[in-house]
Amino acid sequence: MLELRNISKVFGDIVAVDGLNLEVQDGEFFVILGPTGAGKTTTLRIVMGLEKPDAGEVYYDGQEITHVAPPLRNFAFMFESHNLYPVLNVYDNLAFPLRSPLFRVPEDEVRRRVESVAKELHITHLLKRKVSHLSGGEQQRVALGRALVRKPRIYILDEPISSLDYKLREELQTEFKRIHEEYGITILSATHDNISAMAMASRIGIMEHGRIIQVGSPREVYIDPANVSVARIIGAPSMNFLECNLGDDKLVIKDSHDFFFRVKLETVRLLEEKLRGGDRILVGIWPENVLVSGSTGEAWMKAVVENVEYHGAEKFVNLNLGGWPIKALLTDDFVPKHGSEVFVSLPEESLYFFYVDSGMRIYAN
Ligand code: ATP
Repeated sequence: MLELRNISKVFGDIVAVDGLNLEVQDGEFFVILGPTGAGKTTTLRIVMGLEKPDAGEVYYDGQEITHVAPPLRNFAFMFESHNLYPVLNVYDNLAFPLRSPLFRVPEDEVRRRVESVAKELHITHLLKRKVSHLSGGEQQRVALGRALVRKPRIYILDEPISSLDYKLREELQTEFKRIHEEYGITILSATHDNISAMAMASRIGIMEHGRIIQVGSPREVYIDPANVSVARIIGAPSMNFLECNLGDDKLVIKDSHDFFFRVKLETVRLLEEKLRGGDRILVGIWPENVLVSGSTGEAWMKAVVENVEYHGAEKFVNLNLGGWPIKALLTDDFVPKHGSEVFVSLPEESLYFFYVDSGMRIYAN
């Protein structure tokens, strides 16, 4: 198990990592997901030993390794710019780490491992080609192969596939998952790409401002986001948010000329109990839970269609609901026209309640 305890790292007046705690279990595919500048790369560099933390410790299998030199940790690191040797051919790039004086792997063993990994990654036909003559996706496979030949204790991947085009990303995503499962290896990866993080990870750590703000399986963080930041970071697209005022049996959308939706009395009571004077309510709902219809039902609200967006096979409609932007997944053949009026319902069981000021959940429903 890899453990980071209370790690901090400051560059001048920038706090890159701020009291970070993290545990990565053996065999896990752990993805740190966070926006640019959150401190992901710095955290990975500290794990590798390429950066010294100002405070805190790194442990591996219960032993402190904070000050152990990078090669002695036997962790493999794969960057976005994968640092292959362009003048060498693929075979020599794959063999390079094994030929390091530190490992002194005999040449016949080098050949066996390189050929086996090349077969695994379907790059045997590329072994004699110079790296500079390969496509971006092929280079990424070679970089992955170079990490795999060494049989390190942990694979550390920094934005491994985010610069690739959509199709290649999907292909490598599947490849990473397959290799992770077949080899039973431990992977610690960092990315700002929520789609690939949610697809690949066995557990996700959401990072913001140098801290991990929530850890869980992709499903757990989706169902139970701890705060507004998590809901914004993991969603593709993001959760919808509407500031609301509490009525007797309803929530009234702020500044909307009395657009409201009904909630159970029990919900109103719970919210009343939790709110202190001045606390404001932010209601969240995933686009896939917003109901949209061409005809009205009981307690449905009118909304105006801004446009329809296609994400692969899925289509989303952007609406103006009482002055608030809201996105909804369209689940049937109904495609409303720009500028037309539709009706919207926000089912209570799909609502999340947050404090406007702190962004934290008011209660976990
Ligand atoms: P990205 O997704 O853009 O790679 P990140 O989450 O990996 O971002 P880091 O690269 O860890 O973030 O950077 C965190 C903060 O620390 C940023 O504000 C960055 O500018 C700063 N930083 C990182 N390395 C250095 C350095 N060597 N010197 C000064 N500031 C640095």
